[in-house]
Amino acid sequence: MWLGTDRVFEAFTFIVKETPHGVMQVHGYPYSAEGSTFIVEMSPETWRSAGFDSTEDRVFVPGESDEEAIAKIRTLFDDELGDHEIFANNSKWLNFITVRNERWHDGNIVLLGDAAHTAHFSIGSGTKLAMEDALALAACLAENDAVDTALSAYERERRPVVESTQRAAQASLEWFENIAQYREQGDIEFCFNLLTRSRRITYENLKLRDPKFTALVDHDFAARQGAEGTAPRCSNPSRSDPSG
Ligand SMILES: Cc1cc2nc3c(=O)[nH]c(=O)nc-3n(C[C@H](O)[C@H](O)[C@H](O)COP(=O)(O)OP(=O)(O)OC[C@H]3O[C@@H](n4cnc5c(N)ncnc54)[C@H](O)[C@@H]3O)c2cc1C
Repeated sequence: MWLGTDRVFEAFTFIVKETPHGVMQVHGYPYSAEGSTFIVEMSPETWRSAGFDSTEDRVFVPGESDEEAIAKIRTLFDDELGDHEIFANNSKWLNFITVRNERWHDGNIVLLGDAAHTAHFSIGSGTKLAMEDALALAACLAENDAVDTALSAYERERRPVVESTQRAAQASLEWFENIAQYREQGDIEFCFNLLTRSRRITYENLKLRDPKFTALVDHDFAARQGAEGTAPRCSNPSRSDPSG
């Protein structure tokens, strides 16, 4: 469910919460100096266990929000929200739909943005892809006299970029779907796992961006290996391995 809050997160914030119903997560990120996006996500089992299915068969008219669920969410995340409010805007439960199309154009009809392709919101690229599509389409129409040639050029240019982003988005979507399986991991291991979930950021990339964090990852990994009484091993030497 896509919500807002007047709690302004410092940066992209994941709240992973063990509740009596199962693991729930929030993807929170600031959109202005006054507020943040607050997306609540969980598995169908957790969703049912928490009683969110009470409005399952209700049809919400456009603009209407699932107020019953929002009140529950406010209570469940009381510790994280403190005195802050949750804002609804056409907010109801949704299953993220991954859209892929074999063809993006037919005659003089062309698809762009979410109509052509979606990428799970956990990698935050849907709007960027839509804007880039628009730029590419405008450029191709300006550069080609025939509409059909222009639309083919647009699709040729954009498809590889979109498909690469969709691969990363799919990995991230599946990681969040299976988040409960990482509940036993310690903080550092979990953070490393979260940051590398889409496989676009590797240990080496992370080392360039934040060497202090990767030093912690190394230390944590070595400590766990030590605790297990085994020397670090890497069956595939070409793989990025936190043991270095
Ligand atoms: C929960 C969630 C969180 C997201 N978070 C992020 C994020 O952090 N960063 C990011 O980059 N992307 C994010 N996205 C994705 C992003 O919202 C979309 O990729 C982006 O909005 C796509 O833009 P679009 O113009 O293609 O489609 P849309 O924004 O969906 O615009 C389509 C418009 O067409 C209108 N419309 C539909 N049918 C008709 C009709 N028949 N006649 C007239 N109008 C019609 C709709 O009302 C809508 O206004 C998120 C998506 C979800 C679901």
